[in-house]
Amino acid sequence: MPELPEVHTIASDLKKHIAGHTILDVEPVGNYKISGDYSKLINSEITNVTRIAKNIVIETNLPDTVLVIHLAMTGRVLVTEPLDYSGEWVRVVFRLSKDTTVIPLIFSDMRMFGKVTVINREELEKLQNKYGIEPISPTATADKFFEALKSKNTIIKNALLDQSIVAGLGNIYASDAMFLAGIRPETMTKAINYEEASKLFETAKQVLKEGIEKRGSTLPDKMYVDIFGNEGKYQENFKIYMQKKCPTCKTGVVYKRIQGRGSYFCPKCQPIKIIEASQKSLL
Ligand SMILES: [Zn+2]
Repeated sequence: MPELPEVHTIASDLKKHIAGHTILDVEPVGNYKISGDYSKLINSEITNVTRIAKNIVIETNLPDTVLVIHLAMTGRVLVTEPLDYSGEWVRVVFRLSKDTTVIPLIFSDMRMFGKVTVINREELEKLQNKYGIEPISPTATADKFFEALKSKNTIIKNALLDQSIVAGLGNIYASDAMFLAGIRPETMTKAINYEEASKLFETAKQVLKEGIEKRGSTLPDKMYVDIFGNEGKYQENFKIYMQKKCPTCKTGVVYKRIQGRGSYFCPKCQPIKIIEASQKSLL
């Protein structure tokens, strides 16, 4: 599933590649439904491409119309004619033009959990407000991160994956961030002290930034590719995710399904944390 680094890579490449282009036409393939009135986009000019959490936001010169793409599990955005162009994965084809050149912008999605929506500014603001703290945001701080984690009594892994608490992390980067911080995925948020939360905030930023530098992670299913069809490289630097031995202490990595999601951790470097009796009375 694309996480923040993958969506960030796509959005920033799109900005360079399609800003200044005019949308010539929008064609949903088969009976694919675009939510909202997409006909408004025709003949508008793309002015900017940004990102809200894992949403790609394509702004146009229409003051109140924004195109938003969410990739969910298997969505892809491509600007090259993909090999599977005629395949059943292609859901929407946009034709963009600049000067005399016409390029495609393709949304493909194998499992169809992704979404293409046309919304107004008010809805965009609502979308923004749905998301919690984003570790790499310039306004994020360890204090706010600690408060966000404490807002829900759950296991830390759930808190990190809950986009309304922490935005941008998915299974891969959450697993690696918890490993670098020495926190076991099943630790209760209430058992995490400020020092540990600060460490986790730093390691979350570290893995997200590294993921962005490496242009995302492409897993063996090859599902994630950038807009040109190229794979990411963060998978060559996974810390604990999909590893067999802990890179620090060489202990065998534990793979366990925690609330339905495959989780990797080192039993030694990420010890079980028992809440102290004095701390317990404060809960
Ligand atoms: Zn270890």
